Amino acid sequence: MTTQTAIDRRNFLALMSAAAGTAMLATPAWAQFGFNGDADPILVWDTLNRAGFHVTADQSSGGNCLIMTSDNQTLLIDTKFAHLGGALLADAATFAGSPDKLDLTLINTHHHGDHTGGNALIVPHATSYAHKNAVKRIKTQLDTYKQSAKSGPAQINRTKGSEAQLKLAMKAADASDSWTRADIAPKNRVPNEGMSIAVGSTKIDMHHFGRGHTDNDLIVHFPEHNIIHTGDLVFAGLHPFFDPTARVTAIGWIKSLNKILELCDKDTIVIPGHGQVGSTQAVQNQLDYMTQLIEHVQTELDNGKAKAEIKAMSWDFMDGLGFESIRERAIIAVCVELE
Ligand SMILES: [Zn+2]
Repeated sequence: MTTQTAIDRRNFLALMSAAAGTAMLATPAWAQFGFNGDADPILVWDTLNRAGFHVTADQSSGGNCLIMTSDNQTLLIDTKFAHLGGALLADAATFAGSPDKLDLTLINTHHHGDHTGGNALIVPHATSYAHKNAVKRIKTQLDTYKQSAKSGPAQINRTKGSEAQLKLAMKAADASDSWTRADIAPKNRVPNEGMSIAVGSTKIDMHHFGRGHTDNDLIVHFPEHNIIHTGDLVFAGLHPFFDPTARVTAIGWIKSLNKILELCDKDTIVIPGHGQVGSTQAVQNQLDYMTQLIEHVQTELDNGKAKAEIKAMSWDFMDGLGFESIRERAIIAVCVELE
């Protein structure tokens, strides 16, 4: 965006001082912290084979984030869990070169807490976007984010996260009592028709193809770079998460996936909501999963099987997928939808 959204430097310095374990000093905190343009990021990022794009795709830290830098502006897609917001902000600054240069735009792909948890530490410093239904839902999740932040340090210890992650998580836990709805809710509501913006010289199309994984899914498309972040409409190599409270619909999900395929070709880089970065095949695999799930469940319902029996079933197309613990949820949700 061309709107001036340079980061609030005072807050950023406080955050980075906490990370560096120092009081605020006259020396720029990011210098002590190693922000000299080639510092190591705090989270693990894969650099895509297209200039300026970085992705986190590990399965333990929430939804996959993307950071893109273009002409001194920076885009962040999604914010993982509450205790990781500080790390994402720091890493955005690292990729931008320094906090002074961080002119940040945030897009949330949907409202789920593993994609919006870090919003409180990002939204106040960014031009922010989400689907209009997501903004409403995010506002109701304030207490969840606060609780998540408070359990963050223990979570970092459990997963053997780095010292820098731990210090930022402790800072987030301390700050969480003061978080407000204004801090977590993206300021710009994307309508059903979608919206196009520019970050630096890069065009970004946000599409909404109706209800699918939730009632507020956004697909983020970089047409000039042939890259798509699908949000949770694609779980790569994993069972997809069905959430009835989010108005999930397998039939709508299929419609959305077909629309995504229209944007793809053989060279498209697909960043799923969860799982490894891949190609158009990841979208096709998700479409095949949904199609077969509906077919099998319909067959069993037609055979007079009870929901309790059907949910215990598994079919070939489900073999070898991760997130096994949410397989039953998917089957039950499709039973309810088809009944
Ligand atoms: Zn989700």
